[in-house]
Order: sequence, then C-alpha cells, then structure tokens
Amino acid sequence: MNRVKRISAAGFSFFLDTVFPPRSLITGDVASAHGIEAELWAHLSFLDAPCCVACGFPFDYDMGLDVLCGRCEIKRPAYDRARAAFKYDNDSRKLVLAFKHGGRQEGLAVFTKHVSRAGRALFAGCEGLIPIPLHPSRLRARRYNQSLILARAIAKANDLEVLPDIVQRVKATASQGGKSYSGRKRNVAGAFAVRASASQAVKGRNFILIDDVYTTGATLNACAKTLKRAGAARVDALTLSRVVNPQSVPT
Ligand SMILES: [Zn+2]
Repeated sequence: MNRVKRISAAGFSFFLDTVFPPRSLITGDVASAHGIEAELWAHLSFLDAPCCVACGFPFDYDMGLDVLCGRCEIKRPAYDRARAAFKYDNDSRKLVLAFKHGGRQEGLAVFTKHVSRAGRALFAGCEGLIPIPLHPSRLRARRYNQSLILARAIAKANDLEVLPDIVQRVKATASQGGKSYSGRKRNVAGAFAVRASASQAVKGRNFILIDDVYTTGATLNACAKTLKRAGAARVDALTLSRVVNPQSVPT
C-alpha cells in the first residue's frame, strides 16, 4: 500500500471511530478491550453437526453420515458443502448487520475463531478462499467488502490463501432483501463471471466461497455454478451465519 493510501485509510478509520466510537453492538456501551461483551456470545446459537451434508441445514438428531435435507435431496446445490458458524436470528442479526453495513470490526477476532471451527472440515485440500465479490458500484458506495475482510481474517488464522481476483460480479443486482427463494435465485442468475485472466487458475482446483450470511444459498449457488462451469473441481461455502427459519430472512 502506498503512503497516500495508508494515510487515507488511517484517516477513514479515525473518522469512523470519531463519528461511531467502538460501542457494544447490542447495548450501545463503549466496547470492552475485546469489543464485544462475553455474555453476548451466550445468546448465539452455534451451528454444528448433525446437519445436511450439502447445505449444512441443522438436524435435530444424528441421522447418520452423508444425509441430505429434503431440499438438497430434490436438487443438489452447485456448491459441494456449505457450513456456517452460527444461526442468523434476532440475537445475531445486530452483530452481523453492524459488521456488514456499519463496518464495525470489533467482533472480527471472535467471528474468525467460530467460522474457523465451522469450516475445519472444509480446509483440507482447499487451494484458496474466494470472498463473494460486490459489484463495483456497490463497493464504491460501501467502501469495503465485508466478505473480503472476513476471508482475510480466516485465511490468516488457518494459513490459507485469499483469492479476491478470480470471480467478478458482472451484474448490479437489486438487494436480495424481501425476495422469495425463487426471486433471490432469479436476481443473482448470471451475476458472476470468472475473470479471463484467472480461467487457467480455476481448472481442477478446490475453493471455499466466503460470505457473511447464508440466507437461501442463492448467491453462493450462483457463484459456485460459475466456478464449476469454469472447471473448478470442488467449491465449498463458509459463512458467518445461516438463516435456518425462512421466516427470519433478513431485509
Ligand atoms: Zn441441504
């Protein structure tokens, strides 16, 4: 990073901390040294086995190895396996949205620890983490890609590589908020493309897509489909949180 960029990044961080001092994402109190109070994590529902071997949908009891949920039984997703650290619900919503839209990163170290736990089974043979890209117009408006921030932290903690230049978002899609399962699918169809410069780097390789929320899996599915068509061998997906009850789809 050159000097000008370093100064502007530091200036932006100072601006954020001045306008939005690091406060608890839940109570509004000034954050502790670790940013988020320990008791907050007690409210999160962590996701673990047993779950659908493909999409990671949690099962109430162990039904044996390689069991699929009803939806994946009908049609397997384009990605091979999706896993998430915790359930997206009213307790985790504020945390995730503060990270996604507010740019607050106080919880990143804790997020990284739990996502690393959830993704452990996916890391063997993985040749790189691919953050779900934003369209350039959205990136300009938000100024950062939360999936890239998360991917960098997971990569550092697990000695993996981040590959942010493999996939690009070629369609400026409308927000997925408020859309049905099929509406979300239609909205992201054709949204991604593998960069021409990366086409050889994709063939026969294994990747993990990184995103903040798995809602219906439509975005991850569209991105995985693009990579598989370009010749990727295995495409898994790892997210911070996952909607389990479709009624709690974020807006
Ligand atoms: Zn499933």
